Amino acid sequence: MAFAITPAPQATVPVEGGDPYPVRRIYCVGRNYAAHAREMGHDPDREPPFFFMKPADAVTLDGSDINYPPATQDLHHEIELVVALAKGGANIPEAEALEHVFGYTVGLDMTRRDLQGDAKTKGRPWDTGKGFDNSAPMGALRTVADIGHPTDARISLKVNGESRQDGNINQMIWNVPETIAYLSGLFHLQPGDMIMTGTPEGVAAVGPGDRLEGEVAGIATLSVSYKPGS
Ligand code: MN
Repeated sequence: MAFAITPAPQATVPVEGGDPYPVRRIYCVGRNYAAHAREMGHDPDREPPFFFMKPADAVTLDGSDINYPPATQDLHHEIELVVALAKGGANIPEAEALEHVFGYTVGLDMTRRDLQGDAKTKGRPWDTGKGFDNSAPMGALRTVADIGHPTDARISLKVNGESRQDGNINQMIWNVPETIAYLSGLFHLQPGDMIMTGTPEGVAAVGPGDRLEGEVAGIATLSVSYKPGS
């Protein structure tokens, strides 16, 4: 097909032992761990999940050296389990939700917390705080055929070798099937859709020169750095 301009490249995430996974959308769940909801000043009672999005090309691959993003003095890390869908659908029943999953990895929901906080105060959208360039570093995907559906695994993040976040994916308020079912009532999900499932407590700032190493134990690892002086 001819296009008026050269199309941007398809965003992808590597797959262990397979061809790259093409990313369509990145949905993110807010406040999905009680202790993180509390540290952000919210009641962790089981209110319905809420979502925001990052653009597909916010994906940044494992091993990247990232320019520190502009317009922030408070760039926060949020280490998260990431779900990648193989099949789409609308109004997917919870009992069938896992049949739609291609695989899992670990990701970082990088957040310009100062811009997000300002948006919250003013009742404005979160896009500039959440959906900026390189805001979604991700490890390689592991397929369901390879690892099944993890429900109990340590999720952790170190910055410059020091522990910052340390939780377990079994602490999620809304688990993966519940999240897929709920999200599919809001959007007609498609192959290539990814879901970042929320972060445990311990979010904090990083700066130029910092190295971030994240892991969902037994699933995937992720290591990225922010360029010094960037
Ligand atoms: Mn998050």
